[in-house]
Amino acid sequence: MPSSCTSFKANMTVEAALVLPLFLFGILFLYSLIEIIRLQSEFEQALHQYGKKAALHSYAYDKLQSNESEAADIIEGVGFSILFLKKEFENIVGQEYLEQSPLVGGKDQIQYLHSKFMDEDLIDLILVYRATPYYNIFKSSEMILMNRCRLHAWTGYDLKKNTKTSISREQYVYITNESDVYHINRNCTHLVLSIQQCTMNTLEHFRNNDGGRYSPCEFCEDNSGTQSRNIYITESGTKYHSSIQCSGLKRTAHVVPLSEAGARRPCSRCSK
Ligand SMILES: [Zn+2]
Ligand SMILES: [Zn+2]
Repeated sequence: MPSSCTSFKANMTVEAALVLPLFLFGILFLYSLIEIIRLQSEFEQALHQYGKKAALHSYAYDKLQSNESEAADIIEGVGFSILFLKKEFENIVGQEYLEQSPLVGGKDQIQYLHSKFMDEDLIDLILVYRATPYYNIFKSSEMILMNRCRLHAWTGYDLKKNTKTSISREQYVYITNESDVYHINRNCTHLVLSIQQCTMNTLEHFRNNDGGRYSPCEFCEDNSGTQSRNIYITESGTKYHSSIQCSGLKRTAHVVPLSEAGARRPCSRCSK
């Protein structure tokens, strides 16, 4: 029947006429979302560009401030102020772009007030602004966006000033459980024992570093042995040992900060 065929064609045309504009609006909406992402990345880039410049200039500011000169106040007033940030930021982004971007309320609606300059040597730049898609067909609400750039001012590294981050300069010393002295030098002869082997027959010829004779060790004393048995002595010790396994021949040194050395006194040999 020719009449029903005509009405079917007409339906197609009506549907296409309705759907096509919606489809096009959808594409445009997506495009404006991409524009918002672009806006945010443009702002991020500009903020970093300004931040780097401010970090560089902060060296002069820091030096002047430490001299308590009036120039520091001038720089603080001019260079490190919200007004200056606003002016520089707008220049970097470009007036033209700011006017045609999806920013709500134009450039004057950008908030810079959360930014901080030279707070513990940090430059913290924060932007808060609102953006909306160009073709707001879905009645989506405005988006609140934020950009932040946090930089360390180029003021050098001051150990005294940055107590929080300063590396501990405390001296480390070497201690043993047996002794009540601490050692500065890791290679101190009190710590590194050079064990010598000899026999009871020849012991009388040996003297320790202080010129003293060796007496029997109370831990490993062995009177049963002959005069030709092996015994062990050290240059810094005062005892001779029958066993090389004797604890008197061992030193286990620990490295500790000087403040943890307790009541120990400095070693007379290596702390001079
Ligand atoms: Zn020592
Ligand atoms: Zn011993």
